[in-house]
Amino acid sequence: MSEKHINTKVITYPDNNGMKEGAELIKKGALVAFPTETVYGLGANALLSDAAEKVYRAKGRPSDNPLIIHLAEPSDAEKYCHVTPEFLRLAKAFMPGPLTVVMKKKDIIPSTVTGGLDTVAVRIPSHIAARELISLAGVPIAAPSANLSGRPSTTSADHVISDMLGRIDMIIDGGDCDIGLESTIVSVCGKNKLKMLRPGRITLEMLEKEGFEVELDKAVTEKLSEGEKPAAPGMKYRHYAPGAPVSLVCGSDEKRIAFLSRFAEDRSVALVCFDEDEKIKNLPNAYIIGSKNDPDGQAHRLFALLRSFDDKEEIKQIYAPLPEKKGIGLAIFNRMLKASGYTVIEV
Ligand code: AMP
Ligand code: MG
Repeated sequence: MSEKHINTKVITYPDNNGMKEGAELIKKGALVAFPTETVYGLGANALLSDAAEKVYRAKGRPSDNPLIIHLAEPSDAEKYCHVTPEFLRLAKAFMPGPLTVVMKKKDIIPSTVTGGLDTVAVRIPSHIAARELISLAGVPIAAPSANLSGRPSTTSADHVISDMLGRIDMIIDGGDCDIGLESTIVSVCGKNKLKMLRPGRITLEMLEKEGFEVELDKAVTEKLSEGEKPAAPGMKYRHYAPGAPVSLVCGSDEKRIAFLSRFAEDRSVALVCFDEDEKIKNLPNAYIIGSKNDPDGQAHRLFALLRSFDDKEEIKQIYAPLPEKKGIGLAIFNRMLKASGYTVIEV
């Protein structure tokens, strides 16, 4: 991993001169973290191989884990990849927004950006600061989440500062990210057919409603066995994990609460619970993720909550509920499962 020796400039959006400076930095191959509607991105000029290499170094990210390229408009995509009719339909329905589409890349995108693959992942973010940065830079911006590899993704500028200060050239503070989970990733695998490689705010149900047949990649919900390869290389890595181990508690509300109650007052154990968990939610070691009926709120808070455990040295074990696998719940389920290293306790 790169040493922390860069003087990182932090600006707050909106800041016209700061944004112009950020765009110039991107153009010349420097690294700029910026807010998006999903999570913060660590941006680099996607046309420069050296810039992409800097991203991998700054994050400590394995170089076979490709980056998503961010564009200002769907119509820019044809410059960088072989656009399919399915992409055009998805663009009409969901872009700009939290959806990434994997397509065959054109030669202009260096293979360092795509982790050696012949495909490239494309997204058009809706966040106003992200759009402005991409337009001003005039180049596609390759950007993974702006966290150190393995840690929860960053959903506020403070998170980015804590992981990236001294490693990158600029951080654009645009406040908290709305959605809080990374984009949905799909690849097109036939006429009208999509494979979902990573769930997110654009849900399987939303894609089906647009007339697509959607297959869920196995790596979204299951641990792959030795030698099995996920369609999104990033899905094989340990991810989103706080320092203390996370275990997911699976069972009826009653049984889950009975299990968690055993650790009442034990400050070495963090109990993640819902607003509705009356019996435990006021315990000193309870951490509320939101209402059971508000999965968007849970998604918005998840990474900040996981990160906050790292500030509390006394916490040695984290118990969290297993979310429902429908709608955006599938994305929360996927991130929790990865954060837990697939540790599920049936109660
Ligand atoms: P991050 O930007 O940190 O959310 O990570 C990007 C995710 O996109 C990782 O899981 C990558 O494996 C996935 N990804 C990026 N490019 C491709 C591609 N060409 N094919 C499949 N997955 C990709
Ligand atoms: Mg990431």
